[in-house]
Amino acid sequence: MFVDKAVIKIKAGNGGDGAVSFHREKYVAAGGPDGGDGGKGGDIVFQVDDNFSTLEDFRYKKKYTAERGENGSSGNCTGKNAPDLIIRVPRGTVVRDANTGRIMADMSSDQPKVLAKGGKGGKGNARFATPTRQIPKFAKPGFLGEEFDVTLELKLIADVGLVGFPNVGKSTLISVVSAAKPKIANYHFTTLTPVLGVVRVEEGKSFVMADIPGLIEGASDGIGLGHEFLRHVERCRLIVHVVDVSGIEGRDPKEDFQIINRELDNFSMELAEQPQIVAANKCDMASPEQIAEFRKYIEDQGIPFYEISAATTQGTKELVGAIAAELDKLPPIKEYEAEPLAPAELDERAGVGEKFEITRGDDGIFYVEAAWLENIMRTIDMEDYSSLQYFQRVLRTSGIIDRLEEMGIDEGDTVNIFGFEFDFVF
Ligand code: GDP
Ligand code: MG
Repeated sequence: MFVDKAVIKIKAGNGGDGAVSFHREKYVAAGGPDGGDGGKGGDIVFQVDDNFSTLEDFRYKKKYTAERGENGSSGNCTGKNAPDLIIRVPRGTVVRDANTGRIMADMSSDQPKVLAKGGKGGKGNARFATPTRQIPKFAKPGFLGEEFDVTLELKLIADVGLVGFPNVGKSTLISVVSAAKPKIANYHFTTLTPVLGVVRVEEGKSFVMADIPGLIEGASDGIGLGHEFLRHVERCRLIVHVVDVSGIEGRDPKEDFQIINRELDNFSMELAEQPQIVAANKCDMASPEQIAEFRKYIEDQGIPFYEISAATTQGTKELVGAIAAELDKLPPIKEYEAEPLAPAELDERAGVGEKFEITRGDDGIFYVEAAWLENIMRTIDMEDYSSLQYFQRVLRTSGIIDRLEEMGIDEGDTVNIFGFEFDFVF
């Protein structure tokens, strides 16, 4: 069965906990703290694997959890980092955040992508020893790994997509111009899965053609089959619109052409704007007048027109040459850009707005503490402008700035957040 959509849960590993431990040796009393840090949790990494051509496996296994980092131990031993969990997907899989629709990755290239980061390990008590605190009896737990519900959507990678009514000869066409061998039959909906074929134009030059199951009226409203397959045409560079010009099935080629185009328009802007060429098929069964009339209708719209007979291969060589020439003028196959998390979602994930505590020390410094804030502090790069901007935003939206002002903070006073100190400016 061809499965091209799936929803799964991915969860990166949590960091290991830091250890509380004190150096112990025979006859040596109260040694210093020697609890090591926890190891990092495993990342969730996506990787293209050309052995897969569908998302079928994801129908059965829905949850993917990377291992947690090992806890720290005595003797200043840092826990082992957990291995990454590699999720293998067919080429062309687009990964989205299921809750927001945000594109997280387009798995088109061989480059592996980290889609959920493992939590860092917590610090062991050895890290908390200071001249005034020689016996730290605490350590930090590991940080949580990132977690997402994601949708996987396979969008085939082909240069050319064949579209058209059922039975117009799409499968026949791909079978005569490539090595692909889809089922061909004189009844509707024979093609239930998209089929890819490599079309050789000349020595060292080829393109990939996709035979998309037949579209029917109402397909873009989810009626019938076509709808779910339309997404496979979306990243094609060129649409070859196959029309039965003979009207042998009692259909009108002009009407067919309009109906299919309406379906494409309704499905997405991307499809509506894709360049097309028309392959008028079954010319062996059509009269010269029928062909001439349809040719005029298409060419009047400025669309390139080719008459073929897929069954006898008449005109298919010219069609292939024309497709290749057209492709030379078109941009490469579309890859989707990953989109960053929206600020509001970042806040929610980070727990911004949850409880915090501010105390003023004897040294006059304002100490801000919150579990969620510690997490954020670890990810913020104070040298980086956008990172710093985010940090300032967090201080504002969480209400920390307001609270500091209520507490009577003055311009130039020092604020300390988990060891990071800065001067307050209004
Ligand atoms: P698809 O549904 O668009 O994939 O159409 P198929 O390739 O399965 O073809 C449907 C029917 O039309 C089959 O019986 C084919 O043999 C027939 N057919 C395909 N191309 C031609 C052609 O050029 N001439 C004629 N006469 N029949 C064709
Ligand atoms: Mg077919």
